[in-house]
Amino acid sequence: MNKATRKAIIAGNWKMNKTRPEAKALLEELKGMVADIKTVEIVACVPFTNLETALAATEGTNIKIGAENCHFEKSGAFTGEISADMLAEMGVEYVVLGHSERRQYFAETDETVNKRTKAALAAGLKPIVCVGELLWERECNITEEVIARQIKLDFFGISADDLKKCVIAYEPVWAIGTGKTATADQAEEVCAFIRAQLAKLYGAEVAEAITIQYGGSMNAANAAELVSKTNVDGGLIGGASLKAADFTTIIKAAENG
Ligand code: PEP
Repeated sequence: MNKATRKAIIAGNWKMNKTRPEAKALLEELKGMVADIKTVEIVACVPFTNLETALAATEGTNIKIGAENCHFEKSGAFTGEISADMLAEMGVEYVVLGHSERRQYFAETDETVNKRTKAALAAGLKPIVCVGELLWERECNITEEVIARQIKLDFFGISADDLKKCVIAYEPVWAIGTGKTATADQAEEVCAFIRAQLAKLYGAEVAEAITIQYGGSMNAANAAELVSKTNVDGGLIGGASLKAADFTTIIKAAENG
């Protein structure tokens, strides 16, 4: 298996943006623009409050819907939380886990990312698990150590069959929402490193099958170069996923990538 046979996935991470009418309007616009895309999986990961609206707006289309997080317990006294089963029951297909904003602002750790990933898989969701180094860690030349540790911990106890249902998003924290994009070579270097780590843990065949995205200020202007790289199988896109035309340009770049 190689890049040509792996599934390219372009996923939008809307973060805490869009009311329900705004969500509907954006998806209605996007739907028309991407209707003829066949070779790229298109995903919109939206706030919990928009899930029902998003599922209704995209029914029967080539746009899949994801959530931006889920809790690791099945149910219980966890005020304000949403379980993986609740998402799966709605028809949600993907869930972003371990996003750096969750790690930074909501005390998410590799241990809870691991538990959430297991819960999501048990519910039949496809986790998009985010890993990435801080600027300080890159400057100290420990990017590979950081990423290797995250991969080991976030996927601890997850079988090869389950790993194949996961997507990994390499998101250098210094590039998220900052307008500073990793160069295509930096993105390729770390995505290739992630694949090599997976090969050590799960074997080459499994590693070659996994979709590894780049995320961090990917936009309409820089997407083509990033997704052209051998180990970059698409992107997780924040800001630029909020504009239908920009998101479409990125999706089309992945079609040719
Ligand atoms: C993200 O939210 O995962 C992200 C990559 O954001 P942005 O594209 O805005 O940097």
